[in-house]
Amino acid sequence: MLVYDLPLRTRFRGLLRRDGVLLRGDAGWGEFSPFWDYDAAESSAWWRAAREAADEGWPAPVRDRVPVNVTVPAVAPELAHAIVLASGGCRTAKVKVAEPGQDAADEQARLEAVRDAIGPDGAIRVDANAAWDVDTAVARLALLDRAAGGLEYAEQPVPTVDDLAALRRRTHVPIAADESIRRAADPLAVARAHAADVVVLKVQPLGGVRACLDLAERIGLPVVVSSALETSVGLAAGVALAAALPDLPYACGLATAQLFTADVVPDPLLPVDGALPVRRPEPDRALVTAPDELAARWRERVRSVLAHPEDQA
Ligand SMILES: [Mg+2]
Repeated sequence: MLVYDLPLRTRFRGLLRRDGVLLRGDAGWGEFSPFWDYDAAESSAWWRAAREAADEGWPAPVRDRVPVNVTVPAVAPELAHAIVLASGGCRTAKVKVAEPGQDAADEQARLEAVRDAIGPDGAIRVDANAAWDVDTAVARLALLDRAAGGLEYAEQPVPTVDDLAALRRRTHVPIAADESIRRAADPLAVARAHAADVVVLKVQPLGGVRACLDLAERIGLPVVVSSALETSVGLAAGVALAAALPDLPYACGLATAQLFTADVVPDPLLPVDGALPVRRPEPDRALVTAPDELAARWRERVRSVLAHPEDQA
């Protein structure tokens, strides 16, 4: 078991660094990297995903490349423009909105800059991370849809399944569910309530590639596979899921190695011509380092997840 600690290019999800564990089994390397605000119960799904990667590997792919979106954090317009241009040919951009301390004018300017950079035939989606209420979302999406010259979809604009369903009846912008799937007691509630047009699946929080394939089949909506801000070892599991899905109508949110200034592999999973190749990079042990104190915290965390009854199953 190795512990990594990597710097991010800009603040993302409130973080300036990302840390986690890499573990090796007969099938290869797996990543265990729940965010620190996740308790042992919620982290046990992340552990199952890491064990699947290390012990079993993944189902066979049905495609050899996975189109991906560039992720644009809540940055100034000039930087947003530059991020899209440096994205390795991504034809879809996911733009973070609803950042604390920013207003609608900041978001409009960011979306206009992204449209300018990606061109008229690129796709633009926004992610509000559940920050708005329904009325705010109705108004803001109308504004942002105009600023973007058309939005592909809005990811988790509002917190609950009921909110998503209510919003979906009041906007023509398609709705994607993210937090309502991966942090919900019942991930099928979104489909039953007709609360989304698209669902975002993430391998670690949902317990592995096979668990996600099963969930995708039961939900019956188009799937976008996204990362949980992993190293290229963790991203490979997302790529494996995206490569194994029967249908993949949208670009996936797996180009997040771009948000790091370093990686644990010598050949990070970065897009070429807007897509990731389906492959599984190996970590270089010299690149996997962490302060002793952080490594000790991760060993303790793994112990607490293993002690949690949910993992005994
Ligand atoms: Mg999201």
